[in-house]
Amino acid sequence: MSDDWTNRTKAIHAGTRRSQYGELSEAIFLTQGFAYDSAESAEARFIQTGDDEFIYARYGNPTVRMFEERIAALEGAEDAFATASGMAAVSGALTAMLRAGDHVVSARALFGSCLYILEEVLGRYGVEVTFVDGTDLDQWRDAIRPDTKAVFFESVSNPTLEVIDVAGVAELAHAAGAKVVIDNVFATPVFSKAFALGADVVIYSATKHIDGQGRALGGVILGSREFIRKTVEPYMKHTGGSMSPFTAWIMLKGLETMSLRVNAQADSAQAIAEALVDHPALDRVIYPGLSGHAQHALCAQQMGRGGTVLSLDLKGGQKAAFAFLNALQIILISNNLGDAKSIVTHPATTTHQRLSDAQKTTLGITPGLIRLSLGIEDTGDLLADIRQALDAAAG
Ligand SMILES: *Cc1c(COP(=O)(O)O)cnc(C)c1O
Repeated sequence: MSDDWTNRTKAIHAGTRRSQYGELSEAIFLTQGFAYDSAESAEARFIQTGDDEFIYARYGNPTVRMFEERIAALEGAEDAFATASGMAAVSGALTAMLRAGDHVVSARALFGSCLYILEEVLGRYGVEVTFVDGTDLDQWRDAIRPDTKAVFFESVSNPTLEVIDVAGVAELAHAAGAKVVIDNVFATPVFSKAFALGADVVIYSATKHIDGQGRALGGVILGSREFIRKTVEPYMKHTGGSMSPFTAWIMLKGLETMSLRVNAQADSAQAIAEALVDHPALDRVIYPGLSGHAQHALCAQQMGRGGTVLSLDLKGGQKAAFAFLNALQIILISNNLGDAKSIVTHPATTTHQRLSDAQKTTLGITPGLIRLSLGIEDTGDLLADIRQALDAAAG
């Protein structure tokens, strides 16, 4: 691989390992173990595993390694560890780096399972977590202490699409010696500049845009070689959250088309947000690519584009939101995102159901709020579907 390649080329070729057969498409090494030539070579491999040498699939596998090297090349990271799901990546990265007595500062607006880890799990093991409004740098400044070990946030929050200032938070965190850990799902590897902006660890749920076709759960932790191999790998390989070779193959195929898909999805999201901005049935159209979004300038600088998800707040509350969902004909009701198929979610009654009414209000999760993940269908067809469903909901 050449460092001069752009991401569209790296996404096709980086990390490829070919067997003696020279197969064009990446091979799936569906093997959990590896046979050694001799007892001596088994011993040698356990002392020091080389680049093209493997021991056991929980520790590493050639197909999984291809995926790790390819995504690391795209993200501009020294190394990566692939995991069984996005949550295995979030929990693995945090538990591998933290220990009792450490302090963490986290944005409050988090994916439900991330909130569970920060709010419920870490505390049980003696890690103290302070929650802040991620968009408010003053709150980060006040919360970060000399003993803060890490800060954690989603660079674009779900479902209200607040954009967090990666460089701003990183500067405050680094001044205290804390690591910056980012769940970067909504930014996608296509629009991410997280490492250039100061991230130390970047996490993706590969289930979302990387697969992008609704087939498999997966995740990845990216960071320095030292962090991935000395901190993450020992923890993950012994606790069991590694990615399977078959999943890695699906994710490699996903990476090949990711840039085409994600750019087409962002085109639709931008066009649809602009077309709906003054729609009489809507209280709010939330999309970071709109000039009226509170962090529009930050988003343009940090991601270049507004992303693949937009949220709409229907004036008629939950009744109108349900009528809208039920009237859609192309867009499917589901809670995945980043998929080739357009998907709609009512967060208040599904993904964020667990939150109290007060928490929902704080996070802007109103009864009329719906989240739309744009797929790669025709933009005009999607807009027509949304318009007819808004009419049906109003009618
Ligand atoms: C989906 C998602 C996760 C969890 O990923 P899984 O692959 O479902 O485990 C974590 N963070 C964010 C922001 C997500 O959207």
